Amino acid sequence: MKIGVFGGTFDPVHIGHTTLALECRHELELDKVLFVPANISPFKIDHIPVSPADRLNMLRLAIGHDPRFGICTLELDRGGVSYTVETLRELAKEYGKGSQLFFLAGADSAEGFDEWKDAGEIMKLATFVALSRPGSNLTRRPKENYRVVEMPLLKISSTMIRRRVRDGRPIECFIAPLVADYIHEEGLYLEEG
Ligand code: ATP
Ligand code: MG
Repeated sequence: MKIGVFGGTFDPVHIGHTTLALECRHELELDKVLFVPANISPFKIDHIPVSPADRLNMLRLAIGHDPRFGICTLELDRGGVSYTVETLRELAKEYGKGSQLFFLAGADSAEGFDEWKDAGEIMKLATFVALSRPGSNLTRRPKENYRVVEMPLLKISSTMIRRRVRDGRPIECFIAPLVADYIHEEGLYLEEG
């Protein structure tokens, strides 16, 4: 089995995330992509996301029962700051030698990969896949355990969606309809976070 592992805060999950997952699944012929919501991202310690339960509910609504996707709650269950290397160690154990892991990272995350905790070990546990997009600055050369996949440019981010909710603007074209309904029903992102 070839499994994509896609880490993020998903606060909230949006069309950019699902597009990235589908693009990689197609390019790398992955069986499925696991979305792994971070408890606390080491790069976002100043931003407090909505609760793990809300982020998980939104992921479930975005993904539904689509067999191409799955959700892995290892980082939420572990608590504390979420390090990719620890998650990949656990997934490698869980899936065993018959499976191949691919860690998917958007351009902005991938640009800082050399500073990640245990970057060398990450590349032993999984193939690191950097998603390049116009204007991104990926300096590492692609090799066996570091792949680069081109991604169409979608100018969407969770930050932008949170801001639009706060401003009372529509978010429906950036996000799955059920996730938009959930945000409005639960009154998420009305306050500056
Ligand atoms: P925030 O605005 O809060 O930083 P985000 O939209 O970047 O949120 P994250 O959960 O931080 O979402 O991102 C998870 C991964 O998805 C990261 O690797 C990020 O680079 C990637 N990503 C997010 N939005 C896009 C997009 N529109 N196109 C390609 N990759 C994206
Ligand atoms: Mg981001």
